[in-house]
Amino acid sequence: MKIKSAEFVISNSDVSKCPDSKLPEYAFIGRSNVGKSSLINALTNRKDLAKTSGRPGKTQLINHFLINQSWYLVDLPGYGYARVSKSAKKTFQKFITQYFEKREQMLCAFVLIDSRHKPQAIDMEFMSWLGEHQIPFCIIFTKADKLKPNALERNIKNYQEEMLQVWEEMPQYFVTSSANGLGSEEVLGYIQNINDNLKE
Ligand code: GDP
Repeated sequence: MKIKSAEFVISNSDVSKCPDSKLPEYAFIGRSNVGKSSLINALTNRKDLAKTSGRPGKTQLINHFLINQSWYLVDLPGYGYARVSKSAKKTFQKFITQYFEKREQMLCAFVLIDSRHKPQAIDMEFMSWLGEHQIPFCIIFTKADKLKPNALERNIKNYQEEMLQVWEEMPQYFVTSSANGLGSEEVLGYIQNINDNLKE
């Protein structure tokens, strides 16, 4: 998919104020510092469409970006950052879950996982929650350039094994790097495919 236009539309913490539109949307979510903003910028080929966070956990808003005038890329707040106070954490968790429960046009959530790390409980719990609510999702492994090919392969295999303890099959996944563009075409192709099928 060629990105012809990418524009910021609205930020908010209230699901009812998300764009009143039937366009398909795709959500990007993960732990703070996973590389979400960098990935959004790499996918859209824009330097600072999503603000890369100096301080993790800062941007607790739902951000809608309109892509090619035909679909929304939704940047959801990073979860699981300890510095967020308990009460703040509670509100953002609530609006994240509300977002998924209410936005019927949300066709696939991309759950970002740092390819360097072992499976983390919070990510596993979040994916289980998506599964229980029958919300389609894919995994995006980030920062692949930070590992040597063997280590990357080993980590992903290990992740698959852990997922298969819980899931019948490994969800669709992508291996990406915002530093060298690895995987961007595949992620965008996946979105394009869903969008094309909607038109048929
Ligand atoms: P966010 O909090 O999930 O939005 O994460 P950011 O996109 O702000 O990235 C967190 C840190 O990881 C920043 O210092 C980025 O430069 C770095 N980073 C993000 N993606 C990559 C990547 O693909 N490769 C490398 N080497 N660094 C990355």
